[in-house]
Amino acid sequence: MIQCPVCRVENDDFAITCSQCKGFIQDRVPNLNLFETGWTVLESPHKAFRTITLAEHKNYVLFLFTLFGISLSFTGFWLFRLGRYFENLLDLIGSALGAGIVLGLASAAILTLAYHGMAKLFGGKSGFRSSLGLLGYSLTPIALTLFVILPIELLTFGMYMFTGNPHPYTIKPVSYVILVGFDSVIAVWSVVLAVLGTRVGHQMSIGKSILVVLGTMALFGGALYVAADQFHIDGKL
Ligand SMILES: [Zn+2]
Repeated sequence: MIQCPVCRVENDDFAITCSQCKGFIQDRVPNLNLFETGWTVLESPHKAFRTITLAEHKNYVLFLFTLFGISLSFTGFWLFRLGRYFENLLDLIGSALGAGIVLGLASAAILTLAYHGMAKLFGGKSGFRSSLGLLGYSLTPIALTLFVILPIELLTFGMYMFTGNPHPYTIKPVSYVILVGFDSVIAVWSVVLAVLGTRVGHQMSIGKSILVVLGTMALFGGALYVAADQFHIDGKL
């Protein structure tokens, strides 16, 4: 709650003007800057998620979801060994990028619907667009892996990353464990950010925030499973 400095009335955390005297109680945030907001999410998430919830326009959110989709797409190509369907690495990268953009935009809709529904179920206070913004910016670490970890993986293992023939672990075990380990830590980081974002943006307890995020992941995982099943992608893990 924010107390109005003039009339002392308690206002909602994200109110811009006082409900009683109509005076300004905090600054408007018209827009989000990608680099500034992305950096603040990593450095001081609480502050960043406040700004994101307050922002009138949730700028760059679809861009972040697209990067997430591309990352998810490459992970799928790796997990399901889809390299066997491609002649060379460039073709594979092209297809993974194309599929990733579609997957990213689809997940912006599906993931946010699931997330917003879960948040409302647990008494979340913010609107759909805030849910979209909170979730999109939680994906910042995963979006960054595209520019940092993925190029190293592609340069180190090339096609073997996606064919498993021979398995990349047998080629360079230490590099493989480190890179996959990094990817996993970063995925967990995004999940933790989503929990913090839920706590700040939807003003709920940490326990409920964890349930909302885990519930969203279960729904999204189920949707991905059904989609993979539709396309007859057979996993050989
Ligand atoms: Zn007031």
